Amino acid sequence: MAQPNIVLHVADVHKRFGGLHALADIDLQVEEGTTHAIIGPNGAGKSTLLNVIIGKLAPTSGQVVFDGAVLTGRKPYQINQLGIARVFQTPEIFGDLSVLHNVMIPALAKRDGAFRLNMLKNLNAETTIRDEALHMLEDVGMSGHVDMLASSLSRGDKRRMELAMCLIQHPRLLLLDEPTAGMSRHDTNTTIELLQKIKQRGMTKVIIEHDMHVVFSLADKISVLAQGRIIADGSPDDVRGNPAVQEAYLGG
Ligand code: ADP
Ligand code: MG
Repeated sequence: MAQPNIVLHVADVHKRFGGLHALADIDLQVEEGTTHAIIGPNGAGKSTLLNVIIGKLAPTSGQVVFDGAVLTGRKPYQINQLGIARVFQTPEIFGDLSVLHNVMIPALAKRDGAFRLNMLKNLNAETTIRDEALHMLEDVGMSGHVDMLASSLSRGDKRRMELAMCLIQHPRLLLLDEPTAGMSRHDTNTTIELLQKIKQRGMTKVIIEHDMHVVFSLADKISVLAQGRIIADGSPDDVRGNPAVQEAYLGG
């Protein structure tokens, strides 16, 4: 059988905040085309790990390799340009712009190499990117929301818009930090369906998630973090049946 292609390799990463060992000896390999979930109790180090991957935090030691390129030491925008897009636990959006314009901005920033404020002046002239943004919004089920102010969206719609802002970048790797946090059950299920649809297109995803229903609906592989260490790693069935995981996280 052909060797799986490892898109992302987190190699021997440690992160200390003063005396706190927030990440210890993390080794994580994400295979191309898979959805890899990172789960664990609050304070386990999940967001810290994501921030190390995207360059927001420097590891104390170790490195992150993406598609053969060492990410460690690069800035977040450089890492983004290599093909990694992320959806944050708290969405970062332009509240006083329309939904359509919010989705156009990452595509413009990608085309021009960086985000610049004066991009916002000429948005209506960007017809190609406008059409693509409309297509992405249709994809995430938000055709009816294109002209709404982003700040007026419900929490679930904001997350969907943010997903469109990622998809328009055509990333090789999509990172999601609790994409259903704060959503109703209905919005959660819609988001799961949407992420399953993306999965069918073969996009590689790393998803940090607290909600077991979401994890078991989407993940091909799960790594369990507890107190900064990976305590289990494997298929959803392996992880579900692992006594250490049940003790640390699932509550027995
Ligand atoms: P999770 O996302 O799994 O809930 P975090 O990665 O946010 O956990 O946090 C892991 C640990 O690191 C927690 O104890 C948290 O308080 C601590 N921590 C996170 N960020 C910082 C920081 N910037 N400075 C100091 N401690 C931090
Ligand atoms: Mg977190």
